[in-house]
Parts: sequence; structure tokens; C-alpha cells
Amino acid sequence: MKVIIIGASHGGLQAALTLKRLNPQTEVILIEKRSEISFVSSGIILRMNQLVDELDKVRYLSLEELTNQGVDILINATVNTINPEKKTIVYEDASNQSFELSYDKLILATGSNQFSTNLTLPSKDKVTVFKNYPSSVEVLSKLEKSKSISIVGGGYIGVELCDALKGQGKEIHLIESAGSVLFRYLDKEISSLIEQKIVESGVKIHLNESVLGFSGLEEEFFVTQTTNEEIRNDYVIIAVNARPDSTLVKDFLDLNTNGTIRVDEHMRTSDPDIFALGDVISYPVRNSYRKSFIPLVNNVVRSATVAAMNVLGNTMKYNMTQKTTATKIFNSYVASTGLTEEEARFEGIDVESTFLTLPCQLPYLELQEEVHIKLVFEKGSHKLIGGQLMSEKDITQSINTLSLAIGKETTLEELVTMDFYFNPGINQPMGIIGQAAYEFLIQKYRK
Ligand SMILES: Cc1cc2nc3c(=O)[nH]c(=O)nc-3n(C[C@H](O)[C@H](O)[C@H](O)COP(=O)(O)OP(=O)(O)OC[C@H]3O[C@@H](n4cnc5c(N)ncnc54)[C@H](O)[C@@H]3O)c2cc1C
Repeated sequence: MKVIIIGASHGGLQAALTLKRLNPQTEVILIEKRSEISFVSSGIILRMNQLVDELDKVRYLSLEELTNQGVDILINATVNTINPEKKTIVYEDASNQSFELSYDKLILATGSNQFSTNLTLPSKDKVTVFKNYPSSVEVLSKLEKSKSISIVGGGYIGVELCDALKGQGKEIHLIESAGSVLFRYLDKEISSLIEQKIVESGVKIHLNESVLGFSGLEEEFFVTQTTNEEIRNDYVIIAVNARPDSTLVKDFLDLNTNGTIRVDEHMRTSDPDIFALGDVISYPVRNSYRKSFIPLVNNVVRSATVAAMNVLGNTMKYNMTQKTTATKIFNSYVASTGLTEEEARFEGIDVESTFLTLPCQLPYLELQEEVHIKLVFEKGSHKLIGGQLMSEKDITQSINTLSLAIGKETTLEELVTMDFYFNPGINQPMGIIGQAAYEFLIQKYRK
């Protein structure tokens, strides 16, 4: 069987390697328009925080390693046309020569890009939107010289950038149109703690404010015009949510209203010989009545695995997503899974929640750390539907436990009686999740 995959980022690579591992006889051709592969988008944060000495090293697979696995990789090759009737694609190489290739199955892994915001961006290079390696290199070099920077978008990328830029003597503005940072993942109890840390670090935070445009761009310090004020900047980074890149197939495949390619649970599109995965599709979210565009690598690699299995005739369904995330910002680990309380209400779910600050260790230990924890339950069924954590201690594995609990429709009572370990030198007898659930149980059942 001959499989062509368009796009060699997280999704395309995972699909290619899975196909070869499942059946080495499969001919796999991976086509990528850029000159390099496997760059991790948040590499810029790792470089700024000096966790790596070179941006170019933030990759997990080389072209040589890919070829050694038996994958034929074409770089600097842009697919411009797909002909589903003939089952062919046409790509153009770096010298603008066109080539036609036939396929038995086609996988679309064209992902998303950051370039379609509601803003008209100036042609001058004082404003950057970034995701890939070349644009990250550009941002790094410009940040070095800039004195007053606005970061547009208070999601993970925006907040991580603020953290990495703090304490360098630069004026930093974070502009977010919503009423809180990280609002897609956190409720106010935890996002307000993060906002406090952002303000304490000297970053100026602008909530409920949208950028309208830029003026005076010929000057060194130009104006970033927001709905509330004029900010003088010499550099602006746009870190808003990405958009799916489905332009190649919009005329012949079914798309969702948000521009993603419509797929079934096997990642099959409206053409039975074409599959799609990664950021270019929408995902079923547990406890939500609709599929959503959720650009996260954890969704990408799972959908790629499912696509590869089904391409080879092994039936496998995509599970739901809890949109589980974690980061380290302002010296704290922050993690989230499932629906926030606000989201749940928007979905029409009747919910109740608990927010607690708990000690991680017993009082006799010298090391004392605490964790902020929020759990969201459906009223009536007591089913866990969301969890959020924040601590200076690395609690990120606990978010995976919560994700599993949500996935298995665990109730409050089951969470309290679940088997979590205790070690007197490490934790509390019930662990942080059990303890938080127990406190809520007492609150609910107390006469
Ligand atoms: C700054 C930043 C930080 C992030 N950090 C995290 C994180 O910490 N954790 C997390 O889970 N997610 C993170 N994400 C999201 C994550 O990067 C995306 O979910 C992921 O990259 C999507 O992978 P993908 O393979 O579907 O598509 P993409 O990574 O978008 O790649 C698509 C590929 O297809 C190629 N392509 C497109 N069209 C064509 C064509 N016509 N011909 C040939 N090639 C084509 C593109 O060049 C590209 O290489 C981050 C995103 C950004 C922007």
C-alpha cells in the first residue's frame, strides 16, 4: 500500500512512524513545505529560560532518523493540488518544478497556523506572529533589542512569554480580550493567583482589552491601540489562538463551521481514502455537546495513531479529549483537565465545585509545600468533570490522574475511596486529590 502524508510536524511524523512500525512493507511518503522537521513550537520558551543552549536543538527526530525508519521524506515540497478522483497529489519543489504522485490512501496533517487573526498586521516587521522555527528565530533576535513589548493573547504562550521576559529591564504588556488569563483552562480562583504573580513580576496586564491596530510604525516607538488605551511599543508579539489550515481540501471535503476537516471516529474524512488528523480537525470533548478545535500535541499524536491504524485496516476509535494541559510559569506548576466551571455552565451542565489550598506534606516535615486545587462535579450524578491544580511542587502527574478519573466518569464518592498511595516522608494520607474530594464530601454530607 502507498500512503502519502501532507505535513511533517507532530501529527504527520507520528502517523508515518506508526504506519512503518505496524507494517514495514507500507510505502510512506511524507511531504513537508518547510526545510526542517520536528521543531517543538514552545522551543522559544525553553531557549529563553536557558533550558537548551540552541533553539535549533528543540527537535526530537532528524531527517536521517526518519529515513532510517523507512519513511520517504520530501522537504521544501508544497502540495498545491489534490485530485481525489484520480487519487493523485501535485507538489512543487524549491525550484518551482511540479511533480505528480499517486496514492492508495492520503493523510492530511496540514495542522494550523497563527497567521489569521482579526487584526490587520502592519507590513513593517515590528509585529510578529510565531509558531514555526524561522519565526521563532526572528522573535528571539528582536526581543533582545526591544525595550517595550506588548504580548497579545493571555493563553499559555502569552503567559509563558511574560514569565520568560520578566526581570530583564524591559517594559512588558500582556493584552487579553477576556476577563482573565488562561480562561480556556482555568476558573477565576486559580487564574487570579497567576495574574497576581504576573503583576508582581512587573508585567503590565490589560484584561478585557482588545488590540485594534497599530500606528506611527515609522517611529522606533509606535502605538499599539487597544480598546482602552494607547501603548508605546517597539515590538509586539501576537500569541493568539491558531486557526486550522484546511485550504487545500475546502472545495471537495466536508468541513466543520470552524474550518476544521470533518472526520469520523476513525479519522476518516468524507472521502473514504483520505484521513485527517492533528490541528486540522475538531475533537470530541468529554461532557461537551460539540466537537472543538483544540490545538494540543496530546490530541495530535493520538489522532495520528488512530489514523495510521485505520489506514492499515485495523479498526480503532479515537477516544474523547479532556484537553489536559500543564505548564510551569512564575515558579509554579499549573495544570488543567476537563471543563472549567464556567465552560460547564455554558454547556448547560448543572455543576458544583470546590476550591481548596491544601498542604502537600504532613506537618513534621521540614519541607512544606501547598497546592491550590479546584474540582468541578456534575450535580446529582456527582461525576467529576473538571480539575485544576497550581503549586510550587511538581503536581503535573496528578492532572493525568484527574484526566483518567474524568474519562472513567468517576464520582465524588469513588474519588474519596480510590486507592492512592501514602508515604509519611512524601505526602498526606489521602494524597491531594483524595483529600480535596474528602473535604468536599464532608461539606456536602454534613448535617
Ligand atoms: C508557540 C506554541 C507553543 C505550543 N506549545 C504547546 C505545548 O506546550 N503543548 C501542546 O500540547 N501543544 C502546544 N502547542 C500546539 C502544538 O504546537 C500544535 O498542536 C501542533 O503543532 C499541531 O501539530 P500538527 O502536526 O497537527 O500540525 P502543525 O504543527 O501545524 O504542522 C503542520 C505541518 O504541515 C505543513 N504543511 C501545511 N500545508 C502543507 C502543504 N500544502 N504542503 C506541504 N506541507 C504542508 C506545515 O509546514 C507544517 O509543518 C503550541 C503551539 C504554539 C504555536
